[in-house]
Amino acid sequence: MKLLVAQDIGYCYGVKDAIDEVVEASIHSDEKVDTFGPLIHNSSAIQELTDKYNINTITDIHDMRGNTLAVRAHGIPPKTLSSFLDQGIQIIDTTCPFVRKTQNIARQLMEDGYFIIILGKKKHPEVVGIAGHVEDHCLVVENEEDLQGLGRKNKIAIVFQSTITVDDVGHLIPRIVEHAKEVKIRSTICDITSRRQAEARELAKQVDYMIVVGGKNSSNTRKLADICRNEGVQTVQIEYPSELKALSFEGIESIGLTTGTSTPQTAIDAILNEIKNKSHQGMTIESNPMV
Ligand code: SF4
Repeated sequence: MKLLVAQDIGYCYGVKDAIDEVVEASIHSDEKVDTFGPLIHNSSAIQELTDKYNINTITDIHDMRGNTLAVRAHGIPPKTLSSFLDQGIQIIDTTCPFVRKTQNIARQLMEDGYFIIILGKKKHPEVVGIAGHVEDHCLVVENEEDLQGLGRKNKIAIVFQSTITVDDVGHLIPRIVEHAKEVKIRSTICDITSRRQAEARELAKQVDYMIVVGGKNSSNTRKLADICRNEGVQTVQIEYPSELKALSFEGIESIGLTTGTSTPQTAIDAILNEIKNKSHQGMTIESNPMV
């Protein structure tokens, strides 16, 4: 059996920098550090931050143990940030530079007179953060029903949640165009996630079985699994090596493996080991040669 591992796996730079910054702050400060929402969508990595570095996840600032709060890579609305600062809270802002760029693009377009449409999941923290930068001058659109009541606008600008695929939203763009005289589209899909999605698609075409490693609550991991399934290949999304026990590789000659952008290398190594054991070591592991 052959296992083909995607070239681009593990943390993206946004997630890696966020973790490094918060860990660094916790090590060098007498203050206890809390994060506003889970720093990344991976429960084992969050547990490790708590166990090793005493970094807790909170969703209500009344639960803060000290006075230092980390804003995660997804970013937050400016009003939320101001309210924290007004209360004298010390902020470690780990907003990913790519997400910050999208926030700035959306704000600039609003100032240029555009009504902003954000294509993405309404409750995703990154989308909530971007919407907060343009306040009520925006509409978050997940599906066609969300366009009801949009009415007629002079100028509309469309931005994207960083982890969606153009395929997911391509059918919405012609519907949006009907609502304005002028429509500007700014592709704000993160280059890392689009590369990873393209590689997953290509990998899925070459193998009998795809394993996508990442947190169950990670939307970019789920998206990778959907892309592989859409290629017609049997696909599982797993987070822990123990989940491999229930899987059968009977009759499978080749397996592809990719990961979400919030999957730690330790989880990937543990799963690769378990796959090797499961195949009784009779497996070759190769890195996907495609770029
Ligand atoms: S997936 Fe892209 S936008 Fe999101 S944190 Fe990583 S680098 Fe930043």
